[in-house]
Amino acid sequence: MKTIGLLGGMSWESTELYYRKINEGIKKRLGGLHSARIAMYSVDFHEIEELQRIGKWDHAGEILAEAAARIQSAGADFLVICTNTMHKSIPIIEKKISIPILHIADATAQQIQARGLKTIGLLGTNFTMEQDFYKGRLTENHGLNVIIPNEADRQIVHHAIYDELCLGIVKDDSRREYLRIMKQMQADGAQAIIEGCTEIVMLVKQEHTDIPLFDTTAIHAEAAVEMALA
Ligand code: GLU
Repeated sequence: MKTIGLLGGMSWESTELYYRKINEGIKKRLGGLHSARIAMYSVDFHEIEELQRIGKWDHAGEILAEAAARIQSAGADFLVICTNTMHKSIPIIEKKISIPILHIADATAQQIQARGLKTIGLLGTNFTMEQDFYKGRLTENHGLNVIIPNEADRQIVHHAIYDELCLGIVKDDSRREYLRIMKQMQADGAQAIIEGCTEIVMLVKQEHTDIPLFDTTAIHAEAAVEMALA
């Protein structure tokens, strides 16, 4: 079994889900007392969120690159960045490490393609919904048609992530809003929705809607288990 490197804390609410899902996945595959070999570094999200907000992405990337180097020195065979948004920093992180990075959007796109789907709604932070490192990767590298909410709805989605979910707050009102926005994207042609932020699954689970959901936290954790056992 390979050692999984987890770059966590963004937020810790979802890193906890990664830790659990990866260990459950290893236990399911190997049985008994098996558990995952993990080297984890968890950052202070206060600092990262502030740098995002003021647009100092390079500085945020340097902090993550430093953390990734520590994870590599701790013996990780590959890196899992436990957030969709901070995949934006991969070009900076890659300069500091030699182990491969398991990209969350690639793992998700593979699942979507395996289900034969082509047009997909994307929910996440504004950065994830709007920028090339994520939305662009799905369209350019994987040939998917990506639908995002309108400007006003993107604000609702974005603020629920930072003001509620990353703080562990789950509100029925926000779930209603997310479900309304998902329905709208379905009406616009989306065959399924990517929960492209690792906390969204705390708010909307498959049981809340008939629209197929791609939970990036679960998909990324499962891909890490596969890679660890490959
Ligand atoms: N965990 C979130 C994501 O998957 C948002 C927090 C962050 O900005 O990293 O994008």
